Amino acid sequence: MTTHSLPSSVLVVGASRGIGLELVRQYRDEGVRVTATARDTTGLQALTALGAQALRIDVAKTASVSGLAWQIDGEAFDLVVVNAGVYGPRLRTLDTPGDLDFDQVMHTNVLGPMRVIPQLLDALAPGARVVFLSSVMASIGGRQQSTGWLYAASKAALNSVMKDVSLALADRATCIAVHPGWVQTAMGGPQAPLSVEESVTSLRSTFARLGPSDNGRFLNHDGTPQPW
Ligand code: NDP
Repeated sequence: MTTHSLPSSVLVVGASRGIGLELVRQYRDEGVRVTATARDTTGLQALTALGAQALRIDVAKTASVSGLAWQIDGEAFDLVVVNAGVYGPRLRTLDTPGDLDFDQVMHTNVLGPMRVIPQLLDALAPGARVVFLSSVMASIGGRQQSTGWLYAASKAALNSVMKDVSLALADRATCIAVHPGWVQTAMGGPQAPLSVEESVTSLRSTFARLGPSDNGRFLNHDGTPQPW
């Protein structure tokens, strides 16, 4: 994938709805070959209806992800978007998360990407871009108010995962973490300022401009730097 170009083959992990599904829709509208994952039949049907190759993956379960490399054998993705995420319970800061809430959020947002990436190593085209959907709430140095709590901790941990992946794959891929904006999805809610179409249009423009010098960066959807 050259700078300012469309990718030719995209993988979106966690694409049943929201930002993930809109990424599939917009890339498909431009004729890009898209493989995308969902964890239930409804999600798989939504992806198939858009003309994507649909794979069933629950990123929170090791056994579900373990067959991914086999399922994508022979693919050469030049863009991978690791999008699956959950907010978890709407806790206030200093509320103690329940054990199951902690497990769900961490298994999805942190361990999910740690399960997915090793499955992709033989399916990355040379110079591939690998994007992790993070959040402004992950930012520690730039944090002005305490919001997010468990979710914020999970996305900060995801940023650490992204950084390590960026170092491990530096000779073959460009990896970033990206904040999509505050977006009108089930997670973002109806009061969010950005429509999902606006966020994804901006994200795609940023993905198209990524180059090796961006490896390991934390960016906003519009490509501006996000403080760590
Ligand atoms: P949604 O809640 O609308 O969608 C979340 C997606 O993640 C769904 O497709 C969901 O699938 C999938 N998912 C959740 N858990 C799993 C799992 N265990 N295995 C596979 N897929 C899973 O969220 P958004 O589209 O808003 O968010 C997309 C990403 O952007 C997330 O990582 C989120 O944290 C991040 N983000 C969003 C912001 C916003 O304002 N919306 C702001 C900052 C970051 P299913 O339908 O099966 O549940």
